[in-house]
Amino acid sequence: MQVHQNISLRQYNTFGIDVKARLFADFSSAEKLQELLAYVQQFSPNSQRMILGGGSNLLFTKDVDGLVLKNEIMGFEQQKEDYEFVYLRAGAGENWNGFVQYCVQQGWGGVENLSLIPGNVGASPMQNIGAYGVEIKDVFEELEAYHLHDKTIVKFANKDCAFGYRESVFKQQYKNQFVILSVTYKLRKQPVFHTSYGAINQELEQMGVKELSVAAVSQAVINIRSSKLPDPKVIGNAGSFFKNPQITKAKFQNLQSQFPAIVGYPLENGDVKLAAGWLIEQCGWKGYRKGDAGCHAKQALVLVNYANATGKEIFDLSEEILQSVYAKFGVKLEKEVNIF
Ligand code: FAD
Ligand code: NAP
Repeated sequence: MQVHQNISLRQYNTFGIDVKARLFADFSSAEKLQELLAYVQQFSPNSQRMILGGGSNLLFTKDVDGLVLKNEIMGFEQQKEDYEFVYLRAGAGENWNGFVQYCVQQGWGGVENLSLIPGNVGASPMQNIGAYGVEIKDVFEELEAYHLHDKTIVKFANKDCAFGYRESVFKQQYKNQFVILSVTYKLRKQPVFHTSYGAINQELEQMGVKELSVAAVSQAVINIRSSKLPDPKVIGNAGSFFKNPQITKAKFQNLQSQFPAIVGYPLENGDVKLAAGWLIEQCGWKGYRKGDAGCHAKQALVLVNYANATGKEIFDLSEEILQSVYAKFGVKLEKEVNIF
């Protein structure tokens, strides 16, 4: 096993932030992870441990004075099958969109709306990734995770994960305690399509699709995303920096009377979800740039690193945005990106 010292993490995070890790190693199985942890324990017993996937939902604001563990557990394995579903286990190190495309090729439904989300399978339960009206909780069967303190492998069923809007137990009370090793998803043999969200139906029409298929929906999502979202390979970013805030109906009506164009989506519990991007845009941040840190010109929810911004500069910009949205609308934005 190889443990690197003082290496740059720039290529390991889609923001392209140039911080260093005191120690860095990858692992390709639960056994190798255990060996690695035992080995590092000998010469650096109390080092902080950070789990890294594809680095597409985090912002490094300083060097990591500890061990960065890069998950490289690969492989797909069909666990079982019944009349309705196929149960497919994927290694946490598999690329998420690679997994989606594997399902699309088999004609299995459930994850096509989540096409082209960057990152790895292992991080998909972390914030219950979602797009175009679908979340992974809708297809999640179970996961296996290694508990760093107890040194045991634990299974989590759907109900154990406390999935919420871009939330789970792993982002809250179990933060940095478990290394997710594999995730099993439950995919439909007869897909049920969700095409009414965003511009999917319009895109399908433009593509000339007459009969829906998982491949067609996946392609429509890929087309929309590619035309709208900044590609991290071209410009550093971690997708939406903030969550869409959820407020009471009364507060929404009050805001609507002051800002008639405000965008709100009613939720099942009676609250209203606001589009954070719209709030930020109204505060004049869209296209803003200070040094190499900025707010994307097409999508105000995405903060960007034009070249050499530091994590602290991006973080400070996010705080300024947060404060201005609060001052104008009385709404507190919450960061979606994980700050290290
Ligand atoms: P990382 O950024 O590496 O890690 C994220 C967090 O998970 C960290 O706290 C890390 O410690 C932890 N973690 C990672 N792997 C493991 C593991 N195996 N075990 C335990 N903890 C782990 N997100 C959405 O929900 N919907 C979208 O539509 C979406 N679109 C995006 C578009 C762009 C252009 C970008 C850059 C990002 C987008 N994201 C979106 C955010 C991001 O892609 C997802 O949250 C993704 O799941 C992060 O995966 P990752 O492997 O890169 O995680
Ligand atoms: P969009 O379609 O322009 O919509 C703007 C916002 O309005 C979205 O955030 C979405 O909320 C909400 N919305 C749109 N139609 C809705 C409907 N029918 N019902 C309820 N809410 C609706 O958004 P976009 O920026 O192009 O992104 C498209 C999808 O990809 C969204 O689901 C978005 O969450 C996802 N995405 C996520 C990230 C990330 O990093 N988390 C980055 C890029 C895109 P929701 O966000 O709650 O869906």
